[in-house]
Amino acid sequence: MTPVDLDYQQLLDASLDAARRTAGAGKVADYIPALAREDPDAFGMALASVEGEVYGVGDWQRPFSVQSISKLFTLTLVMARGGYDVWQRVGREPSGNPFNSLVQLETEHGIPRNPFINAGAIVMTDHLHSLTDGQAAETVRAFLRAEAGNPSLGTDPEVAASEAEHGHRNAALAHFIASHGNLVNPVETVLSEYYAHCAIEASCEDLARVGLVLARHGLRADGSRLLSRSEAKRINAILLTCGTYDAAGEFAYRVGLPGKSGVGGGILAVLPGRAAICAWSPGLDPAGNSVAAVAALDAFTTLSGLSVF
Ligand code: GLN
Repeated sequence: MTPVDLDYQQLLDASLDAARRTAGAGKVADYIPALAREDPDAFGMALASVEGEVYGVGDWQRPFSVQSISKLFTLTLVMARGGYDVWQRVGREPSGNPFNSLVQLETEHGIPRNPFINAGAIVMTDHLHSLTDGQAAETVRAFLRAEAGNPSLGTDPEVAASEAEHGHRNAALAHFIASHGNLVNPVETVLSEYYAHCAIEASCEDLARVGLVLARHGLRADGSRLLSRSEAKRINAILLTCGTYDAAGEFAYRVGLPGKSGVGGGILAVLPGRAAICAWSPGLDPAGNSVAAVAALDAFTTLSGLSVF
């Protein structure tokens, strides 16, 4: 199939078939009890094209917990506000460790490896909070509402509370970072903003529409410029190398697109210049990435020949 005769709907239907073949393979994230009630084999997928068309299969309009997909938006919004000094506080290298790991922070003096592991996202949230006069989570929500064209999009307070109640590991990360002087705002404030943006509910359609900002090399839905072309390229690069944690190599191998996963089961992937695709299914692999969403994206890029490689 050459790019000119691509039929996105047909590709999504074939991706759904690939996802269905993984039924029973993934495990729902139960360390956040409010997420544990999801059906591991539920599935949805949406593609938004830069031409403005949206295609979907399965539960593509059903909201789910975006979780770490929100880390893409905190980074984007910090860059959009010129917060480049954050790169003195967070690295840009893959960690090769689980998303919630503490080990590197000790030897690397409280500087997280990248913005997409929990430690790095906590610092990004802190930075965004300072850049927005104490409105980190609300800035992320407002951005998502505007780009998705969905004013009802918001945080699920029950999921945010569940994360806070069971958030010993994130609290440990935040206190350790603070002990190295790498948090500006109080630990409790930063964690509560971090949980509030992780607990945003959005559908595959919403997220695919938001992801178009990166597919359009930094242009927003209203045509205004949020990021320079170079900033959009850099964010896509970090997505490719770090967006799926210690499985980023395997994700690049199978899917070949910049992508960000979350433990709610969503993965948002970018086809620069062409489209954004979001797949969702709550059953996760041991690295915390959705088994069916990876299989669906793998099928999509393999059948279409569309990838960044
Ligand atoms: N809110 C989750 C956490 O802090 C996000 C993790 C994820 O989606 N990988 O553990």
